[in-house]
Amino acid sequence: MITPSFEQGPIRPPSEASSLLVRVIRNCTWNRCRFCPVYKGCRSSLRLVDEVLADVEAMRAAADVLERAEAREGRDMVTTGALSDALSGALHAGLVPPEAFQVALFLREGGRAVFLQDADPCAVAPEKLAAVLERTRDLFSSVTTVTAYGRAATLARRHPSDLTRLAAAGLSRVHIGMESGADAVLARVDKGCTAAQLIQAGRQVLEAGIELCFYVMPGLGGRDLADEHVRGTAAVLREVATAAAPGRPLVVRLRTTAVVPGTPLAADEAAGRFALPDDIEVVAELRALFEQLEGVRLELRSDHLLNLLPGLEGSLPADRARLVAMLDELLALPAAEQAEFALGARVGVFREPQDRLDSQRQAALRRRVAGADDADASEKLEAAKRIRARFL
Ligand code: SF4
Repeated sequence: MITPSFEQGPIRPPSEASSLLVRVIRNCTWNRCRFCPVYKGCRSSLRLVDEVLADVEAMRAAADVLERAEAREGRDMVTTGALSDALSGALHAGLVPPEAFQVALFLREGGRAVFLQDADPCAVAPEKLAAVLERTRDLFSSVTTVTAYGRAATLARRHPSDLTRLAAAGLSRVHIGMESGADAVLARVDKGCTAAQLIQAGRQVLEAGIELCFYVMPGLGGRDLADEHVRGTAAVLREVATAAAPGRPLVVRLRTTAVVPGTPLAADEAAGRFALPDDIEVVAELRALFEQLEGVRLELRSDHLLNLLPGLEGSLPADRARLVAMLDELLALPAAEQAEFALGARVGVFREPQDRLDSQRQAALRRRVAGADDADASEKLEAAKRIRARFL
């Protein structure tokens, strides 16, 4: 007999690819950020806590079937490659619903991580969310991490005791789309929060003992508000980072701005209200940001294809000089070589500036980009800029 089905939301961060996905709210309650294509056209709705608890029970039932299949085969549940024959067999035999594929991935990785969906699970009343967290922890005792996205405006409204309650119930990490720390930028992209709310939300999360990851979008200020974007972002990061415990620094993930066709930001661009910085302008922006983060303690991640330089990662303040040197190396090149690198990086043939000197990679760039030899620097930068949107 097939185990009960359960709901899964469409989105989770790359780092949660093998997490148990518990959908506590559908889509995005705000859904107005002008750059964001994710939930446009989808209505948000709260889910009844009983429905969510039933989903968790259904996932447990599927996990039981999958674990029994593994036990019969005498295999260790913790593997790192593709699903074992036993897990695949149980899925294909129809013993569990198709969405239990995610449960199988979770079990394959040791059953440690849970991700609450969708965009703003913390909008659920704290007591209800705590009930979901506690039930999930009860039914999946191997879980060590429960992560959720959170909107700053929602988290800033919560009383600190609510966040402490959620931490005690098992919420261990929150990802906030900060995007910018500049009020003018936040207002223009209709982010629905202010720099003050970002600071309050971020500090409250950290002070409750919950790990915090901020997503920052270089380029979101456009060309006209680039300096303000950098100044505001550095100021918010500085304020929030000081609330992090010594062993658990604020994590910052970079997501370079792309204009996705069909979004309100694309309409802004078409109407001349927004000018997307090119890759070299973004590098200069990051250089200025690091300049203003002197002494700030945080972990920087560049774990998305939207970013030109995947190696731009490290622990600040220790790695700040190395990261600045990486940016300076690119900024010191002649304009034609900067553009050549940007285009090559965007089509996946260069990872770091020296790669442009490799003749095989050069040949690969020419094969992938017809007309690359005839394009001038500005045309290459424009082409590189447009490629960004493909990564969303
Ligand atoms: S809050 Fe997040 S999911 Fe919702 S519109 Fe903004 S960026 Fe998109």
